[in-house]
Amino acid sequence: MKEYIKEAKAYKCLNCGKTGFGRAGRKFCSQECKNAWHNALVRDSRLYRSRILTALGRNYSVLSEAIARGELSIDIISMENRGFRPCYITGYIPGRYRGDRYRCFDISYCRSASRVYNIRKEEGD
Ligand SMILES: [Zn+2]
Repeated sequence: MKEYIKEAKAYKCLNCGKTGFGRAGRKFCSQECKNAWHNALVRDSRLYRSRILTALGRNYSVLSEAIARGELSIDIISMENRGFRPCYITGYIPGRYRGDRYRCFDISYCRSASRVYNIRKEEGD
């Protein structure tokens, strides 16, 4: 018992912030706090992935509509007004001779500072 007390270190619960003493490396005051913290972590991660998938889905819709309308070059501001978020892509193909291509699932496009252009649906992959 004495050894335990000697080795006990001050800790602050990662979940509730309560301070106490325990074995070196202790992070939580209770099993409940440990569970709550891990559950929040999983929930945050799920929300984060869900937000990205939603943004990619919206990008896909905007690009699909552009193809359907026959718009091959669109001002980036107009794209963003339609809900397009250029920072979300599913792939990137560096261009050897022409511009780099970006992927949104099976749609690819080129991008300059001001325009999204050469939008096309990739066949067979
Ligand atoms: Zn706690």
